[in-house]
Amino acid sequence: MDSIILKDFEVLACHGVNPEEKVDKQRFLITAEIVTDFTSASETDDISNTVSYSELKKDIKAFCDENSFNLIETLGVKIAERILKKYAGVKCVELTVKKPDAPMSGNFDYAGVKISRKWHRVYLSLGSNLGDKNGYLDLAVNALKADDNFKGVKESKRMRSAPYGGYATEEFLNSVVECETLYNPRKLLAVLQGIEDEGGRDRTVVHWGNRTLDLDILFYDREVICEKDLCIPHPDMVNRFFVLYPFMEFNCNFVHPVLNKRMSELYDYYKNNKIRYC
Ligand code: ATP
Ligand code: CA
Ligand code: CA
Repeated sequence: MDSIILKDFEVLACHGVNPEEKVDKQRFLITAEIVTDFTSASETDDISNTVSYSELKKDIKAFCDENSFNLIETLGVKIAERILKKYAGVKCVELTVKKPDAPMSGNFDYAGVKISRKWHRVYLSLGSNLGDKNGYLDLAVNALKADDNFKGVKESKRMRSAPYGGYATEEFLNSVVECETLYNPRKLLAVLQGIEDEGGRDRTVVHWGNRTLDLDILFYDREVICEKDLCIPHPDMVNRFFVLYPFMEFNCNFVHPVLNKRMSELYDYYKNNKIRYC
């Protein structure tokens, strides 16, 4: 990968927790490292195929001027996210915000924060088995598309499937969504639960019971998370045809980070054995 670097760009702005920092501008030094791919820029020698560092500098200055945050953490994260959202080819942003004149005693070079943000590739499982099932899945996909912390939202074809787990009584409509997100895994779970709530999800019914809308995280990059209320990859996906089959529309060569098998192998295994994976 290639990088564009803007080092120690000085801006005068009002960020800080003290009241005087909200009115008296202070110095901030911002370093941004933008990870991208120069292949098409170098082949065409055309500035429209890269990130113009002059435009980047203007953006950073405008953002620092137009806002006033208590924390340089907030300032840095928001600048990094803004760069990722604005410039399509940017994979990752490393950002440093230094405050050389931070209001505290003693000799120091600067106080600062370092931030790293990137788009994460995620796969979600969507399901509904109550009411207007297509309408609930539409609601979910539209909510993802309307949130600029997601991009490239693609839904597989929808399939009908028999109730799963022994409690639900109505047939399900299921699909898989591939997208990229800036949310971390926990925030992603909370956002998906908010969308379920918008879809009138009743959480008092029995686990695996009937539901208007269910959104599960299948994969989050190749991360493995095993916590009480968050388990990624989703532990039961390999036993679910309504996940494996639509997933084949996306990346059948995706390697499951725990089982270390391609999704196409897990799909074949399910089809041939129709028993719990291993
Ligand atoms: P299953 O997860 O087996 O499909 P379910 O979807 O019916 O069952 P829910 O009642 O929707 O289960 O969710 C129960 C809890 O599962 C959630 O509150 C959430 O904290 C937790 N959970 C753990 N891992 C995940 C994940 N990968 N995606 C979504 N929820 C998860
Ligand atoms: Ca589920
Ligand atoms: Ca769920």
